[in-house]
Amino acid sequence: MRTLITNGYIVTADDAFTGDILIEGEQIAAVGAPGAFASAQADTVLDARGKYVFPGGIDVHTHMELPLPTTVASDDFETGTIAAACGGTTTILDFANQRRGQPLSEAVEAWHKKAGGRASIDYGFHACITDLAAAPEEAMDEMIAAGITTFKLLMAYPNTFMVDDETIYRVLRRSARLGGLVMVHAENGMVIDFIVREAVAAGHTAPIYHPLTRPAILEGEATQRAITLATLTDAPLYVVHVSCAYSLQAVAAARVKGLPVWGETCPQYLYLNDSCYTAPGFEAARFVCTPPMRSDADNEALWLGLQRRELSVVATDHAAFNYKGQKELGRDDFTKIPNGIPGVEHRVMLLYQGVRTGKLSLSHFVDLISTMPAKLFGLFPRKGAIAPGSDADLVIFDPDRTLTISASNQHQRVDYTPYEGMHVQGVPDTVLLRGRVLVQNGQFTGPKGEGQFLHRKTFSEP
Ligand SMILES: [Zn+2]
Repeated sequence: MRTLITNGYIVTADDAFTGDILIEGEQIAAVGAPGAFASAQADTVLDARGKYVFPGGIDVHTHMELPLPTTVASDDFETGTIAAACGGTTTILDFANQRRGQPLSEAVEAWHKKAGGRASIDYGFHACITDLAAAPEEAMDEMIAAGITTFKLLMAYPNTFMVDDETIYRVLRRSARLGGLVMVHAENGMVIDFIVREAVAAGHTAPIYHPLTRPAILEGEATQRAITLATLTDAPLYVVHVSCAYSLQAVAAARVKGLPVWGETCPQYLYLNDSCYTAPGFEAARFVCTPPMRSDADNEALWLGLQRRELSVVATDHAAFNYKGQKELGRDDFTKIPNGIPGVEHRVMLLYQGVRTGKLSLSHFVDLISTMPAKLFGLFPRKGAIAPGSDADLVIFDPDRTLTISASNQHQRVDYTPYEGMHVQGVPDTVLLRGRVLVQNGQFTGPKGEGQFLHRKTFSEP
C-alpha cells in the first residue's frame, strides 16, 4: 500500500515548506518537492493543496473510562479515540491508576483490557502510583521494561490518590536511576481538603465553591515543592496542567536555572476562566475540573508562558462526565461532582487559534501539540515527526474551514462541551494513522479498534 500526499504545506516543529510525502505501508518513505514522486505509482493520492500537513497530534494527558468511586468517565477508549482522531490526534497517553493496595502490574493490566482492540489510535500508559507499600520501587523497573516509562504522582485528593512527600522523594529517586519521567499533579491536597471540609460544614455546597476552595497559590506551593524534591534527586520532572501564574513562575524559574523541568497546560486554562462558575444554578458543574479555571490574568500569563517556551506541551486532561446523571451527583454537594471536562477532540483546533491570533508560529504550534510530547515521552522520532522512517501519522488541516464547537456536532460521548458556541477557524480535514486514512472531511471513516500499544523509550532530554 503506497499513499502520496501532494502539494501540502508541510509543517514540522522546525520547518515549513510546500512539498509531497510518500508513504509506504505504515511509514513515511520520503519527503520531497512537489512532483518529486510523480512516478511512484501510488495506490492513493491525497491532494493537500491549500492545506497544512503536520504530524498527528499527541495528547499525553487523557482519562478514558476513568473509574471514580461513584461513576465512570463516559468516554472510553473506543469513543474517546474516535473523537481524538476527528480532532487531529493520533496518539494518546492515558493514566493507569493504581488503586491503593493493588500491585502496579494489575493496574496496567486493567488498562490494557480497556484499550486493547478498542482504541482506534495508538496509545500508551503512564503508571499512576498511589501506594508504595503495595508497589515498592522495584515495581517501577517492571514498568520501564513493559514500555511504561513515565510515573504520575498526585499531590491532591488525600482520600484516594494523594501521595506524601516521602513517596514523591522515593519515586523521583528511583525514576532518575531508571530513566523515567515523573509527572506531578501539584496542589497542596491537605490544606485544600481542610478548606473544602470547612466550606461544606458552613453550607457552601454550590459548584462555585469548587474553585473557591482550591486557591491558585496552593498549586504554586506544591509545584515548587515537587521541583525541590526533583532537584534533590536529580530527577527530570513534568508538571501536568499548569493552570495559573504561581505554578508557571515556579516552572519558569527552574528552567532558567537549567533544571530538567517541563510544564504542560491545557486549552481550558488558556480559553476559559473563573467567570464560567457564575453560571446560574447548578450549570457551573459542567466546568468543575481540577485545577479549576483561574482568572483571566492567569489565561494571559499562560499564553505568555507558551510564547516564552516556559511551558512545553498542551494536553487536555480529558475526563468526560455527562451533565445529566453524572455531574448531577453533586447537586447537593460540590465535592460529589465528578471532576473533569472533555476536550480531546478540540485541543488541536483550539490551540491553532493561537496561530491565527499571532501568539504562536505554525512550527511552535506543531511542537506543542505533537513534537515536544513525542520527545518528552519516549516516542520521537517514531511519532511527532515528518521524516523517512517515522510512522505516517499525519493531519491534513484546512486553515480556512470554520467550525462552531458544540455538543451537537462533537464525537466525544458526553452531553456537553465546555467550549459550546466557540467559533474556530482551521480544522482537521483528513487524518492518517500509520498510513491509513481514519478521518475524511472531519468524519471518522475507520478502521476501528486498530490502535496499537506504544512501548515507549526511557527519558532523554529533548
Ligand atoms: Zn488528569
